[in-house]
Amino acid sequence: MPFPTCPQCGSSTVRKAGLNRVGRQVYRCTTCQRQFSNAHEHRYVDADTRRLIDKLRRSDLPPAQIARLAQVSEAWLEWYYRTNRP
Ligand SMILES: [Zn+2]
Repeated sequence: MPFPTCPQCGSSTVRKAGLNRVGRQVYRCTTCQRQFSNAHEHRYVDADTRRLIDKLRRSDLPPAQIARLAQVSEAWLEWYYRTNRP
């Protein structure tokens, strides 16, 4: 399986960096040092979780905390914020 590209800088020079707490492969970009899990992860975030995030997003919580509460990665949350503007 090919490595994903970095969600931050688009580089494909990424390395495996172990597994996260839900057992998902984590990668580290060797260009910008960004750590992220699989770039296609957003496909697996279900509608209920997205609704929860939409609700949390209207509060004053920082994105890192919203990511923790909804159990998604911060990289996914950033992607979601970028592609789903309120
Ligand atoms: Zn990068």
